[in-house]
Amino acid sequence: MSNPTDIPLLPNHLAGRWQTGSGPGTTLLDPVLGTPLVRVDNRGLDLAEGFSFARDTGGAALRAMSYGQRAAMLGAIVKVLQANRDAYYDIATRNCGTVTKDSAVDIDGGIFTLGYYAKQGEALGEARALLDGDRIRMGKDPVFQTQHVFSPTRGVALFINAFNFPSWGLWEKAAPALLSGVPVIVKPATATAWLTQRMVADVIEAGVVPAGALSVICGSSAGLMDQLQPFDVVSFTGSAETARIIRSHPAVAQRSVRCNIEADSLNSALLDPAATEDSEAFKLLVSEVVREMTVKSGQKCTAIRRIFVPRALYQATAQAIGAKLAKCSVGNPRLENVRMGSLVSREQYDNVIAGLAHLKTEAEVLFDGNTTELLDADRAVAACVAPVLLGTQDPVAAKVLHEVEVFGPVATLMPYDNEAQAYALIRRGEGSLVASVYSEDPAFMARAALELADSHGRVHVISPDVAACQTGHGNVMPMSLHGGPGRAGGGEELGGLRAMGFYHRRSAIQASTAALDALVAVAPWRT
Ligand code: NAP
Repeated sequence: MSNPTDIPLLPNHLAGRWQTGSGPGTTLLDPVLGTPLVRVDNRGLDLAEGFSFARDTGGAALRAMSYGQRAAMLGAIVKVLQANRDAYYDIATRNCGTVTKDSAVDIDGGIFTLGYYAKQGEALGEARALLDGDRIRMGKDPVFQTQHVFSPTRGVALFINAFNFPSWGLWEKAAPALLSGVPVIVKPATATAWLTQRMVADVIEAGVVPAGALSVICGSSAGLMDQLQPFDVVSFTGSAETARIIRSHPAVAQRSVRCNIEADSLNSALLDPAATEDSEAFKLLVSEVVREMTVKSGQKCTAIRRIFVPRALYQATAQAIGAKLAKCSVGNPRLENVRMGSLVSREQYDNVIAGLAHLKTEAEVLFDGNTTELLDADRAVAACVAPVLLGTQDPVAAKVLHEVEVFGPVATLMPYDNEAQAYALIRRGEGSLVASVYSEDPAFMARAALELADSHGRVHVISPDVAACQTGHGNVMPMSLHGGPGRAGGGEELGGLRAMGFYHRRSAIQASTAALDALVAVAPWRT
C-alpha cells in the first residue's frame, strides 16, 4: 500500500511528549468508500524510555493521589470526552463504518463506563490502599494477627486492544487502572486506531491527567511486550491466535507479568423447552438475536453466535428471525435509512466471507440478506456484509459450528431435544463470555443459570417482566463481570470495583494490633 505523505500522520504520546514514527506508517481507510484517512506509525520510538517514564513519573504521580482524587480525575476525563463527542462520531463514521447508533455503543459506552468508575471511586475517599476482609488471629495470643491488603502495583498497565471497540475498549480498562493508581499505555488495533488516539490527545491536551499517566502507541506491536517488567500488567483483547503469542511471551512466562486475556467466544442464546411460537419468551429471543446479529455488524465479542431452541420450534424460529433481518438495510452509514454499516476493513470482510464458507460446510442457509442491494455503497469496495442466519438439524454431529467464530453478522440456529442436551451443546463452545436464557419459568431460569454459570462469565436471563428494562445480551455493563473461561480467554474485567483487583497486589500483613490499627488510618476502606 502506498503511503503518500499528504495523508496526515498521527503522533504517539509517549514519555510525556508527542512523537511521530520515522517510517512511512500504515494508512487507515474508510471501510465503505475505500479512501485513505490518516497514517499511524511508531518506528524509531524509544519504547524503553516511554515505559520507564510511565512507570516512574506517571506511576508516582498517580500513587501520590488518593482513590477519591483519582476518581475526580476520571470525572474530569468524562467532561473532556463529552465536550468532544461530535469529533468522535465523525471519526467512527469514517473509520469504523458504523451508523450513529452503533458508534454510540463504543463512544458513549466508554464514557458511561468511565463515569461509573468515577462515582464508585468517589466512595473510596482518602484511602491509599484497600483492606481485604477482616483480621484473622494467627495463634492463641490475639495480639498477633494477619490483615490482607490490596496495594496498587508499581508498574504500568499495557493494553493491547481489538479493532471493534476503539473507545470502550480503552476506557473500560483505563477506568479501573487509573482509579487504582496505575499508569496506562494503550496500543489500539491498527485498523481503527484513530479514535483511540484522538481521545487520548484530547485528554492530554486538557491537562487533566498527570504526565506519564496515559500514553498511546499506534501501529506495530513489535517490541511492546519486551518492555514489560515483573510489576507491570498486560491486558489483551483480540483473537485466540494472538492471545497464544502474548501468553507465551517471556514477560508472562518468565517474568510473571500479570496477564488478562479477552479472546473470541461462541456465545449462546437458549429458549425454554416449554416455550411456544406465541410465547413472550420466543418473541424476546427472536428480537435479541436480531439485535445481536446487526449491532456493529455483529462485530461484538459478546454477540450471539449459536441459538438453541426446542426442536419443534426450529422452523418457526428461522422464519421469525429471517422476517426481521429482511428489514435490515445495509450500506453507507452516513445515510439515515441505513441500519447497518460496514465491517471495519476489507480484510475483515474477507475473513467473514471465508468464515461463512467454513460454517456452511456443516450448515444450511436459512436467511441471507446479501441478495439485496447495498444502499449507497459499492459491493466491490465497501466492507459491507448483510446478516446471514445459518442452521443445522444435527448440532450434535456438528464440529465447526461450535468452534469457529465468524466476527460479523452471522449466527447459527440449532434445535435441541432435551434440556441436558442443550447445556451440553452450549458447553461445546468450551467457555464463552455470555449466554442468554429466554423463559417465563423462574425454576427453569434458575436451573439454566446455574448450569451455565461455570462455563460463562455472564448469564443473561430474560423473562417478560424484565423485557423493557433489561440491558441486552451483548451489552457489557460496568457493574457486571466481563470475561469468560476457556477459549474466551480466561480473563475477568469490570464487575464494579472488582476490576481493581487486577491492578493491585494482595499481601498479608502479619503484625501487632497496634500496627494494624495504624494501617487502618491509611487504608480505611474494606473490600
Ligand atoms: P488480533 O488480530 O488478535 O489483534 C488484537 C490486537 O493485538 C491488535 O491491537 C493487534 O495489533 C495486536 N497484535 C497483533 N499481533 C500481535 C503480536 N504478535 N503481539 C502483540 N500484539 C499483537 O484481534 P482482532 O482481529 O483485532 O480482534 C478480533 C477478535 O477479538 C475477535 O476474535 C473477537 O472475538 C475478539 N474480541 C474479544 C473481546 C472480549 O472482550 N473478549 C472484545 C473484542 C474483540 P494490530 O491491529 O496492529 O495488528
